Amino acid sequence: MKKWEIWKQLLNYKHDIEQAKSYAKTAIDRISREKLPPTPDIYELWYVYYAAQSPEVVKAIDVLVANKQKITNERCKELYQRFLSEGHNEDAVLRAGDRINTTIKNVSGAVHDVRTATSDYSGKLGGVSAQIAGVKDPSELKDILNNVVSDTHNMLNQNKRLEEELDKSSQIMEELQRDLDRVRREAMMDGLTGIANRKSFDSELKRSVLSAREKGETFSLLMIDIDHFKTFNDNFGHQIGDQVLRLVARTLTDGVKGRDLVARYGGEEFCIILPDTPLKAGVIVGEALRKAVASKDVVNRNTGEVLSRITMSVGVAEWTDGEDVEELIERADAALYTAKHNGRNQVAAAPTPGRKQAKSK
Ligand code: GH3
Ligand code: MG
Ligand code: MG
Repeated sequence: MKKWEIWKQLLNYKHDIEQAKSYAKTAIDRISREKLPPTPDIYELWYVYYAAQSPEVVKAIDVLVANKQKITNERCKELYQRFLSEGHNEDAVLRAGDRINTTIKNVSGAVHDVRTATSDYSGKLGGVSAQIAGVKDPSELKDILNNVVSDTHNMLNQNKRLEEELDKSSQIMEELQRDLDRVRREAMMDGLTGIANRKSFDSELKRSVLSAREKGETFSLLMIDIDHFKTFNDNFGHQIGDQVLRLVARTLTDGVKGRDLVARYGGEEFCIILPDTPLKAGVIVGEALRKAVASKDVVNRNTGEVLSRITMSVGVAEWTDGEDVEELIERADAALYTAKHNGRNQVAAAPTPGRKQAKSK
């Protein structure tokens, strides 16, 4: 996950001041307990860790702790470099740029050589007919032909070199294409769960609004939040917590149709876009997903022990014409809040402006 994405999440999203203060305090306490220098980088690393906004950072630190590794300044710097410093994600792209430049240079060099050689060769061939016309002794003919054969040979060699260069470059281009596809995929994917990330959700939601307007259709948005997940983490640890996030992501993805988009919105929150789906149908999908998640056992992979069940609350809103993405998210979020407020483990529908509230559960 890119740093700006992490900070965008931290700044934009539901991070009330009290929570931010508590993350900051925990981060500073930890820095002092580990006797780390309180530099901005180290602070950023621990704030991001406690706010659990970068799955990669949380995982890396948890693995260090689980393996009883000492948290040193060097290790922190390394984690910062790896996950938070600007540009770590751009490496592949920069390398690709260099490789493209070198490849283009090599191919155009080879093309230039062949062009020069071809022009020399045709010049020489042009001279051959004049030479042949002036031949007095047959042995001269042999010399002329020998020269033609040798020039042709050189010409073929040049062509072969160009062919090799082109083969090499098409191989490199294929590799680069694969790299680029991977980078593009990763940029849209949540590192922990492998489903769409916030960035792809944002652009898909905008696209959904445009497409619904164009086709005169509607669509629904589900905002989902795992119940009491903090307690779950506190009881079983972040690693099991991460396992739960993957399980929920998988259950949600398995529970929807191909056109629907399931994304991790941040932390333990997910959202789903259901194209061409009115509120009532959205509530039915939300209810089915809620049940599916609540029916899963969370098993400790190491011990096989069944830990506990998890539940989630769901807010559903149907897009109404003229509404922008922020308003729609706000309404789905308010419905989610209602579901939490009414006791969690339930689905709540957002009243559609101008219509009566649909019944849930
Ligand atoms: P509520 O039912 O009101 O939603 O309670 P909650 O505890 O789920 O809500 P809260 O927002 O207070 O806590 C969310 C917690 O989710 C904080 C953090 O411990 C956990 N969390 C967020 N992201 C991750 C993650 O990537 N991995 C793990 N293991 N935990 C995460
Ligand atoms: Mg939450
Ligand atoms: Mg929660």
